[in-house]
Amino acid sequence: MVKECLLCEQTLDATPSWQSLLGLDQQAFICGDCSNSFKRADIDIKEEGTTIDRTTSLYKYNAAMKEFLHQFKFLQDVALAEVFADDLRRVLKKDAIIVPIPMHPAKKVARTFAQVEALLKSANVPYMDVLEKTDMVSMGEKTKAERLAMPSLFKVKTNVTIKPTTYIVVDDIYTTGTTLRHAATALKEAGATRVEAVTLIRA
Ligand SMILES: [Zn+2]
Repeated sequence: MVKECLLCEQTLDATPSWQSLLGLDQQAFICGDCSNSFKRADIDIKEEGTTIDRTTSLYKYNAAMKEFLHQFKFLQDVALAEVFADDLRRVLKKDAIIVPIPMHPAKKVARTFAQVEALLKSANVPYMDVLEKTDMVSMGEKTKAERLAMPSLFKVKTNVTIKPTTYIVVDDIYTTGTTLRHAATALKEAGATRVEAVTLIRA
C-alpha cells in the first residue's frame, strides 16, 4: 500500500529513514520535508513548590506548527493526532495521573473537538477527565490584569477524588500559562501533591 504524508500528501518513501531506524516513528505518518519543518523547543522548566512544579513543551509555534494546528483543530483532521503521538508518550510518565485540559462543552460542539483527548488517545496514554470549566469567557479577550484577577477557570468534577500524588495536566499549546496554572490550582486545592504540565507547543 502506498502511504501518503498526512500533511502534504506526497508519497512516503518505502525505504526506512534514519529516523524510523532510530524508532522516531513520526516518519510513518509524515514525510521528511514536513518533519523537518517542525522545530523542537524542548523546554523543561522545574519550579518546585510553585503552582506548576514542572513545565515541559516539545515544539515551537512556527509556520509549520500553525498550519498543523489549523488542520488538526479547526478542520478536525483527527488522523493528525498520530504525528506527535510518540513524542507525547515519551514525556508522559506512567506513575502520574494524566489530565487533559477540558474545553467548554459549548465549544466542543460549536467550533472544534476535544483535541487534547485526541492527542492522548493516539499516544495510547491513559488519562482521567477530572476537570471541568467554570467560565464561559475566552482567554483571548482579556488583558493580563483581568486574567490574573479572574475567578477559577476550572473545578474538579464533583464525583472525583483527587489523590495525594503527581498529576500532569496536558494542553496542546502554552500561550500565557494562565489556563495551566488555573488547572494546577484546582488540582492542588483538591489534594494533589504535585502538578506538572506538558504541552505539545510553546507559543
Ligand atoms: Zn509532507
